[in-house]
Amino acid sequence: MPEKITLAEDGALRVPDEPIIPFIEGDGTGVDIWPAAKAVLDAAAAKHGKRVAWKEVLAGEKAFRETGEWLPQSTVEAFREHLIGIKGPLTTPVGGGIRSLNVALRQILDLYVCLRPVRYFSGVPSPVRQPELVDMVIFRENTEDVYAGLELAEGTPEVARLLAFLHDSFGWDLRADSGVGIKPISVTGSKRLVRAAINYALAHHRKSVTLVHKGNIQKFTEGAFREWGYEVVREEFADAAVAWDDCGGDPGDRLLVKDAIADITFQQVLTRPSEFDVIATTNLNGDYLSDALAAQVGGIGIAPGGNINYVTGHGVFEATHGTAPKYAGQDKVNPGSVLLSGVLMFEHIGWQGAADDIVAALEETIAAKIVTYDFARLMEGAREVRTSQFADAIIERL
Ligand code: NAP
Repeated sequence: MPEKITLAEDGALRVPDEPIIPFIEGDGTGVDIWPAAKAVLDAAAAKHGKRVAWKEVLAGEKAFRETGEWLPQSTVEAFREHLIGIKGPLTTPVGGGIRSLNVALRQILDLYVCLRPVRYFSGVPSPVRQPELVDMVIFRENTEDVYAGLELAEGTPEVARLLAFLHDSFGWDLRADSGVGIKPISVTGSKRLVRAAINYALAHHRKSVTLVHKGNIQKFTEGAFREWGYEVVREEFADAAVAWDDCGGDPGDRLLVKDAIADITFQQVLTRPSEFDVIATTNLNGDYLSDALAAQVGGIGIAPGGNINYVTGHGVFEATHGTAPKYAGQDKVNPGSVLLSGVLMFEHIGWQGAADDIVAALEETIAAKIVTYDFARLMEGAREVRTSQFADAIIERL
């Protein structure tokens, strides 16, 4: 019988054998990739005696056509009520009242972690020599930093007032023809993000968490993020984790928490990828880093993502690419990103067996060189198949 996922008193998710999970098909190529991903997810769940009671909810162009709204309240309520959901890519309406549907959902549900695992699938074309050394999980802060949307445009009366205030209060003389953005980084936002990353690292037996920041320059935002991160380690995880400075880099059987400056991190994830494991970072750094790392393993088209609030239990898993409108309805593009987001969702709700089976079957399919156009054009001897055929090939190998 279909039932809701609920949050138990101990803060863990209580997941029935047939959970109701809302999904947004997505715009553009959503019509191609979502049915393909769903077929694979259903087949893997069935193998483990489980079933998802999918509940379609609307957002984006489909919602606008049917209801006149880009993000109907009923969709937000469905995600709020059922805790866990998944979505395909959504068109960002240009010139509408809403900045981005993805950002809106994250803000409304306070999904403070953007979770982006990055790993290599054997056979995927990659621009680096040893992509298999990349196995990282990025925890990107999702609610503050320059992404908070606190910006004033150059030439407006509002920015003139702010510039005057900064001059009068602090003696800061910024150029009069400046646009100004504000970068808030809070104790609350930083600590809950680092706490989530450490909990994840401990639960998944990872060896380290690296706090990535630009604290050498931005001391009271990025530098403070680092300090507050180490406070979390010392105050809340003293038995299970240890800061680099407190152990000289030798954590014994505890989890090592270290830090690295953002620009150097971009070098070292290329030159020494095996030194990075779980990464906890601020919003803008995390945005750049997750896309750069996805490219490093050739996975731009197959990178999964999840937006999670570990306190309320809410999680929305999503394809990380856009709607690729030029391919919409052609049964052509790679369903890997939304499929692996579903895998991440299965892991998150404790369906590890089904998740592992999908990953193994996907690996086998790619190793057999059965791939969609995006990989086929970079691989020698590949057999190019349609979106739906790619899903069938994965299901055959489950
Ligand atoms: P995009 O849709 O991600 O497409 C850019 C290129 O990425 C495509 O032309 C294609 O490359 C490749 N690609 C995307 N999805 C793929 C897939 N499933 N399989 C294989 N290749 C894939 O980016 P965009 O054209 O800049 O954005 C289009 C719309 O999507 C915009 O409205 C944007 O706001 C929105 N968007 C939504 C999200 C989201 O919902 N999470 C994220 C980003 C953008 P080739 O041309 O090389 O084949």
